[in-house]
Amino acid sequence: MTLIFCGNDYKYEIEGIMKLFIPAVRFKHIFSDAPVSSDDADNVTVSVKESEESVGLSVSVNYLGRHAEREQIISADDTSDRELLLSKLLYQAMSEISGIVPKWGVMTGVRPVKRVNRYIDSGCSEDEIREIFRREFYCSEEKFDIAYRTAQVQRSIVRGVRDSSFSLYVNIPFCPTRCSYCSFISQTTESGKKLIPDYIGLLCREIEFTAQTAAALGLTLETVYFGGGTPTSIEAAQLEQIMRTIENSFDMSGVREYTVEAGRADTITREKLETIKRCGCSRISVNPQTLNNSVLEAIGRRHTAEQFYEAFRLARELGFDHINTDIIAGLPTDTPESFNDTVDRLIALAPENITVHTLSIKRAADLNYSENKGTVLKNPTGIMVDHAARRLTESGYSPYYLYRQKNMLENLENIGWCKKGEESLYNIYIMEEIQTILAVGAGASSKLVDLRGKRLERIFNYKHPLEYIKHFDLMLEKKKEIVDFYAEKK
Ligand code: SF4
Repeated sequence: MTLIFCGNDYKYEIEGIMKLFIPAVRFKHIFSDAPVSSDDADNVTVSVKESEESVGLSVSVNYLGRHAEREQIISADDTSDRELLLSKLLYQAMSEISGIVPKWGVMTGVRPVKRVNRYIDSGCSEDEIREIFRREFYCSEEKFDIAYRTAQVQRSIVRGVRDSSFSLYVNIPFCPTRCSYCSFISQTTESGKKLIPDYIGLLCREIEFTAQTAAALGLTLETVYFGGGTPTSIEAAQLEQIMRTIENSFDMSGVREYTVEAGRADTITREKLETIKRCGCSRISVNPQTLNNSVLEAIGRRHTAEQFYEAFRLARELGFDHINTDIIAGLPTDTPESFNDTVDRLIALAPENITVHTLSIKRAADLNYSENKGTVLKNPTGIMVDHAARRLTESGYSPYYLYRQKNMLENLENIGWCKKGEESLYNIYIMEEIQTILAVGAGASSKLVDLRGKRLERIFNYKHPLEYIKHFDLMLEKKKEIVDFYAEKK
């Protein structure tokens, strides 16, 4: 598919709209001041023509032998967002050609709830925001409702955030085996075996460095989150080494939430759960992704639903009273019936949080290149997500954080659901970008937030464990930028 930009360079937004309709296609781009033709039968021309009195905005689409076009003329002094107007024209044309009506409309951003929160802060009523979402972004009622409900659940938490608090994220980029849909940088414990002790040694040094930085800046630790990879894929003694380093380096008296993503059931043992509980963990994730064994096999997950049940039972027995379970809608070979069954069986277990992800097909995932791809794309994921929302709502769960990723099936979303009062603070803080996250480990990225000055900066660690080990001192040097950020804030 060729995208031709005539008199504009709105590549990012226009490509984003096209991906709502045809997510797996690669685009070629032509930029020109005058109209040009393309050899490619599938092409889109996006034009902006300016004269002294007016600006003509138009799109012309040729796709799979079908044609549609839209045009809008605005006066030269109209300050409307031209990129958004063109996106809406393209959305109309692509909807006409494909018959697809994406439920989030032209909203391609990651954080629709942040937008709702901004309108609430500026004094808009629910009906006014609903009307803006409908008129300006073509967002469906249903998606607006879920974004608004999420914002309502978050309000008191968002208002309570202090600029002097922060969260600590610890990345353990190892997994027992690689799932076929995974696009994270994670190494199998087998191939990374030799690296793991060195990695953990340096991770502990980075934790100590981060604690010294935070103390010097007068920042208070509020939440701790272990993610990955699969944190429980390393040994219990190694987990203890990291968690004791945290305990000995930070003032833990203000910590309100301490999560370890136990993740895969095949890594969970009594010894590991006892260790993390003893070391202060208050919340864990045990993630089945699906409770259908044949789907688990199809995605290379290498554990069974029974193992998940056993890990969950063990966690309850050991006193974990805040458990999250992740599931994914749209997995290859899954069906609405089997997905709905997973949702219902999870609700029966009554975890405090259930996170419903939509499969995102990223370039790095094996799936993207496998013959499964056709199966994946044909999945009626929207039906699955709708069923989950209905059943979770009926069962007393509320949406408390919501985000979208690129290349999600049917342009849907990920939603964290919780029982009343069981929101995960960390998930809200990171998604709504309202608190500094100091992140340690390979692949981790720190997010520095200045709420009053409305500034946000990121510092990225090296991605691969080997790079992290090799360039560790250089990386610590770069992390001194945290101090610069807070110095500017004053
Ligand atoms: S457990 Fe998670 S991080 Fe590890 S390979 Fe599977 S999807 Fe990727």
